[in-house]
Amino acid sequence: MKTIAPAGPALRPGTTAVLLALLGALAACSKDLGPFDGARAKDLTGRIVAIGPRQPGTANLRKVAELLAAELKAVSPELELQRQSFVDPALGNGIEYQNLWVEIPGKQRTAGGPIIALAAHYDSKITHPGEQDFTFVGALDAAASCATLVELARHLTGERRLDHDVWLIFFDGEESIDWDWNDEKALIGSRHFARTMNADKQRFPNGLAARLKAFVLLDLLGDHEFKIDRDTESNSALLEIFAKAAERLGVREQLYHFESPMKDDHIPFKQQGVRVIDLIDFRFRPPAEHDPKVRDYEFGKRYFPFWHTKDDDMARVSADSLGIVGNLVLEALPVIEKELVK
Ligand SMILES: [Zn+2]
Repeated sequence: MKTIAPAGPALRPGTTAVLLALLGALAACSKDLGPFDGARAKDLTGRIVAIGPRQPGTANLRKVAELLAAELKAVSPELELQRQSFVDPALGNGIEYQNLWVEIPGKQRTAGGPIIALAAHYDSKITHPGEQDFTFVGALDAAASCATLVELARHLTGERRLDHDVWLIFFDGEESIDWDWNDEKALIGSRHFARTMNADKQRFPNGLAARLKAFVLLDLLGDHEFKIDRDTESNSALLEIFAKAAERLGVREQLYHFESPMKDDHIPFKQQGVRVIDLIDFRFRPPAEHDPKVRDYEFGKRYFPFWHTKDDDMARVSADSLGIVGNLVLEALPVIEKELVK
């Protein structure tokens, strides 16, 4: 991501009470929420990050693809990583991008049957000589989300297998090539994936949205001060399903205190008519120089600004927070299947 949003904080009344509840939730939660093991997700995040910056077209990014392929295979031999390679002529950079995905068969799989997608981007932000000349490893942006998808596969191939197919998608080229967000030079992998799948008459004879019933994106999640913002581009039914799932897990106070319209990998799918949600922790994460005003909000001051800085490293990653993310998704998926897969 993403863009600094003009919207103010979506605070509910009684901010002191909410803050106390929030702190209480932070102290109490994360263990015993479900089977998802945040420590395993953190461990894999560390191994992705240890490869180094993983910019599009680099050997490092290929190494990350191989690591994800091996990890998924180790989770279950049925998980064969698929690759979609392409060059985007409009960019004129000659870079070969590579989207990755695995298909997890549902218990009641039928040929051409419904799909729920879980996704994250596996490229890291391109740094530039001069002001942005630093080593950026993107632990939260978005190695931790990729690792979370792999750990979710462990449960979705086992005791939490759904009736219908789940695709785990890892996008290349999410980050803007220019340092500042440029619509034409970002979301490169997801735009290509959504467009080509929509045109794929074998996989999607009636278009992408006819089979792909929901698209859940994970991004910037896993910080010690855990929260998920309310993305106003997201589908309202999905926002509600995740709110209720969070309520059942006792972590509702950590969701949707702030809202923004997110530009992220879910947008190309939304444009194809797919129901999408971006589970993202973005507000108050950009450093003050990006948006000094945003730091002045009462709540914003307590959130560490790591976005697109050298501070987005393993020190930011919390196993407990990843545990919340993973268990929240596991809690929400059967409801998504029940309510949105017809
Ligand atoms: Zn980023």
